[in-house]
Amino acid sequence: MDVVETQGIYITPSEMIEYLYCPRFIYFMNCLGIEQHEEQRYKVLKGREVHEQRKRMNPDYVRKRLGCAEKDMDVYMSSDTYHIKGKVDEVLYLADGRLSPLDYKYTEYKEGLYRTHKYQSVLYAILIRETYGKEVVRGFICYTRSKNKIAEVVYTQKDFATAQEIVNNMLEIMQTGYFPKQTSFRIRCVDCCYRNICV
Ligand code: SF4
Repeated sequence: MDVVETQGIYITPSEMIEYLYCPRFIYFMNCLGIEQHEEQRYKVLKGREVHEQRKRMNPDYVRKRLGCAEKDMDVYMSSDTYHIKGKVDEVLYLADGRLSPLDYKYTEYKEGLYRTHKYQSVLYAILIRETYGKEVVRGFICYTRSKNKIAEVVYTQKDFATAQEIVNNMLEIMQTGYFPKQTSFRIRCVDCCYRNICV
């Protein structure tokens, strides 16, 4: 990675989700500047809607359920060291003195956490650690379409290392124009907006 110029380049948790869905999304969007079709942004837009609703309702039930003393909302953070930036829905101050990210998802909870959601949470943990200077050992994800089920993510050193590796791979694509391999889940190609230009 050290041969790739990465100064001033930041990966967002949303971009990481795109990359984990298919590595070629980052190539088409960031290297060629071809955006996805609007309808494929539906879930993102719905997510924003939920986000706004949540702000209006200001639900303290989550905070109570997790036993946290206070929280910061909509916290924008960035890290020059890790080349990441993003806004986490909430930073929770837990009873044990630690901090945790809380992220809201407009999706249903499925047994076994989505890989995308997990690594997005890991990025938030790194950002909180860098910004607040405190250890972050677990995070939470609220699934609004499963009665606000809260999933806990307990971070391991391997999770942090894997997240860094993913970010490095993304930076390499964005900076060198390297054409990445296709997703191994070929079913995703069926209704992909890039399928006509993706050989
Ligand atoms: S067509 Fe398949 S491999 Fe190509 S960008 Fe879409 S999902 Fe990825």
